[in-house]
Amino acid sequence: MKEDIAVANPEIASNGEPLSVPAADGGLAGKEILRVENLEVEFRFPDSSVTVLAGVNLDVAEGEIVGIVGESGSGKSVTALSIIGLLRPPGIVTGGRIQFCGQNLLELGADEMQAIRGERISMIFQNPRASLNPVFTVGKVLREVLLLHGGLRGGAARMRAAELLADVGLPDPDAVLRRYPHQLSGGMAQRAMIALALASSPQLLLADEPSTALDVTIQYQIIQLLSRLRKDRNLAQIVITHNLGVIAELCDRVAVMYAGAIVEEAPVERLFDETLHPYTKGLLAARARTEGGGELESIPGQVPDMKRRPAGCAFHPRCAFATKICRSESPGLESSSPRHRVACHRWRELI
Ligand code: SF4
Repeated sequence: MKEDIAVANPEIASNGEPLSVPAADGGLAGKEILRVENLEVEFRFPDSSVTVLAGVNLDVAEGEIVGIVGESGSGKSVTALSIIGLLRPPGIVTGGRIQFCGQNLLELGADEMQAIRGERISMIFQNPRASLNPVFTVGKVLREVLLLHGGLRGGAARMRAAELLADVGLPDPDAVLRRYPHQLSGGMAQRAMIALALASSPQLLLADEPSTALDVTIQYQIIQLLSRLRKDRNLAQIVITHNLGVIAELCDRVAVMYAGAIVEEAPVERLFDETLHPYTKGLLAARARTEGGGELESIPGQVPDMKRRPAGCAFHPRCAFATKICRSESPGLESSSPRHRVACHRWRELI
């Protein structure tokens, strides 16, 4: 099943056959470094407030890659921004804990959080060129980060910056150091952003749609790069994407989000082989297949406006299996097996 998923892979794009990528083993790679517990976030406006995360629980181990998948507006990016302390008004964390290496990040002051952000937790974004300062060369930005986080200056900083660019697969690093963002292709800019994120040797990388804005060949290369960084650096990652192909190729575990909550979570192989939640089944049915052809299915309806979150199970207006209880009671996450959790009143009947 996992192999059926079309990925951001140039070989698949051209001939329909998956090209092998270093496989994720689906197991916890090390000790837990991040535990998000019951995270709640609201958007507060002068005359109203909207719950956008309704009790998210997530954990990540050393060297593990956890994917978060869901449609736009499901809360994926808000979760990542909350973890790294970049959530800005009107967003506000209203409850829960974010334990990173045993420390609750939500209790830290701005200076303490600044020290962790970039130093131990880094983030890359969908549009790398927009994330780089257009008036500075790649070299200047990298040297500033190396000074800030490692105290490196002069020749040592220049040498380390070139090493980082080479490490992310950029040819002729010395030339790239002299370039401005507008002189980089999308793939080069994303590699430069990843080099910046790695400058302080973080333990956790948050990647928000890291390959979405890139063409299919470059998407595949960025996936390979993130996979290699896990192997070489034991770098834990949270990869946010709407692309199930990225999840299939890169991640060990996946959390499916809908309307501000995780509705299913499992090791990737298991999620694809024993899908339980009707929303996840809809996402899988809507995916691009590498074979079989035919029209793509789609999930009827739209992600709810969070100002009018449906009562009960938020997915019930779009769910073909909704019954009375679905419209009145919100299902909690239950374990169907030790590492598979699902939030659906009817998952046992629907297997
Ligand atoms: Fe569908 Fe009900 Fe399950 Fe929600 S709880 S996904 S409405 S069957």
